[in-house]
Amino acid sequence: SAAEAGLYTASDQILLLSPGNVEAALINSTAAMVVEFYASWCGHCIAFSPVYKSLARDIKEWKPAVNLAAIDCAAEDNRKVCTNYRIRGYPTIKFFHAYSKADSAGLAFKDFSRDVRSLRHKIIDKLESHVEAWPPACPPLEPTSQAEIDIFFETNNVQHLALIFEDAKSYIGREVTLDLLQFENVAVRRVLNTEAGLVTKLGVTEFPSCYLYYPGGNFTRLPVNIEARTFYSYALQRLPGVVRSGRPPSFTTFFHINTTEEPWRPFNKSRVYMSDLESTLHYSLRVELAAQPVFKGEALRSLKKYISVLAKYFPGRPVVMNLLKSVNSWLQNETSGQISYEAFKDILENSAQIPNAALPEGVRWVGCQGSQPHFRRYPCGVWTLFHVLTVQANSTGGSDPLEVLSAMRNYVQNFFGCRPCAEHFENMAMESLMEVNSLSSAVLWLWSRHNRVNNRLAGALSEDPKFPKIQWPSPEMCSACHTVKENGEHRWNREQVLPFLLSYFSSSSILTDYLE
Ligand code: FAD
Repeated sequence: SAAEAGLYTASDQILLLSPGNVEAALINSTAAMVVEFYASWCGHCIAFSPVYKSLARDIKEWKPAVNLAAIDCAAEDNRKVCTNYRIRGYPTIKFFHAYSKADSAGLAFKDFSRDVRSLRHKIIDKLESHVEAWPPACPPLEPTSQAEIDIFFETNNVQHLALIFEDAKSYIGREVTLDLLQFENVAVRRVLNTEAGLVTKLGVTEFPSCYLYYPGGNFTRLPVNIEARTFYSYALQRLPGVVRSGRPPSFTTFFHINTTEEPWRPFNKSRVYMSDLESTLHYSLRVELAAQPVFKGEALRSLKKYISVLAKYFPGRPVVMNLLKSVNSWLQNETSGQISYEAFKDILENSAQIPNAALPEGVRWVGCQGSQPHFRRYPCGVWTLFHVLTVQANSTGGSDPLEVLSAMRNYVQNFFGCRPCAEHFENMAMESLMEVNSLSSAVLWLWSRHNRVNNRLAGALSEDPKFPKIQWPSPEMCSACHTVKENGEHRWNREQVLPFLLSYFSSSSILTDYLE
């Protein structure tokens, strides 16, 4: 299809426009729209596409107020749409106000620079240019005043009011306001440094800085490591009582009714548990793989790679390792070109022949427990398993930097039951797996792609409200991992992230609580 041939895919969080959906997206929409008109053959468009994708990740939380879209004008089917919008060169970016009329051609971004930060600022400028109907989901972006604050809690039913003090040129207040758009019980307003009354009342001396303001005039400074957008947004999203809006309300009842569930196992949220890893192996080897009656060709090669990586790098208990090694040696010696699941299963269970070899039956989720039975568990275990394996390959000095990741890629592509997940993961692998050129870059690649998935899934229905998807590790878990560039944009400090991952997923930090 046209969408697949273009520069973006469904996993990019960019609305892919086509003649069938363009009117619904651009005409009379409740959200403003930013549209990139591109041609898939155009070199500048190809070069720009990673920036546009990063922008989509960066302002994902703003979607109800302003959404990103793209259309490939080189696709035959789309020609007419692009002509109607009078597109002459690529890439062209246009902004469509909320409630645009059918005859609106949009506002072109003139001489836009190709970086996320300035595009984001341009989008805010354009949002503020709404004269008639303001997008209903968009909170006020103009600076607030003492007078407004005085009556704020009379007219707004929220627990926390965050005031961001900044100078007129700063966009942080507006960015954080939009970052919090989908959260309840918190409102954000910007206060200019020239608003003398409030500045004096709160004793503000640093710009930017963020204060929490409460009914009756109490206030407190929001503690953050660095005075910058992402640190404010992260801290505000996690204030007590702040929740994502639009959650299904059935949550608590469901949780209480469900008494047949096994008892909750208390655990430390910042540790890895062997019980999750063994549960993952159980489910993968006894349930997921059982969906394949026979392994041959690509599937057989994938199975062999997966088991060999497990036998080599899984930091398991001796009994489990004995089993994995015996299954592996059987499998690698099998030359018939075809193996039935039954034969595989026999070896897996029949290791009675081999003394002291077994994989415990059943699952005991610990760090991967979810607040409801359909949350977390196996997919959480799969991520954890492969993080552990990349780290283990790094510390035992494997020879091929891609050994673990290509085993994972093949496993996911051939066997992982979540098919949309497999497709998204394959897109990421195709896009950037070739950048991995060392064992440590393999560890970092998986970490950063996992964060992309987290970004995409934050707020999705599959997200366990008790375990919100974050850009991981949080500032609380690793403050040195987070830093900012000179212009205040968040930057991961990879020199710190790597040792953090190596230690977090190392075999010596894995807890053995709850094992049989
Ligand atoms: P998970 O994301 O499963 O993470 C497990 C644990 O790993 C976390 O609790 C945390 O301790 C740690 N962690 C979190 N982030 C990182 C990181 N960046 N680096 C290292 N460790 C980290 N679901 C979908 O709905 N759509 C998809 O497209 C999709 N794709 C997937 C692709 C793969 C390959 C896998 C394995 C899963 C995918 N899932 C997808 C499932 C989804 O990613 C989660 O696994 C699931 O929602 C459970 O989430 P969780 O809260 O347990 O955390």
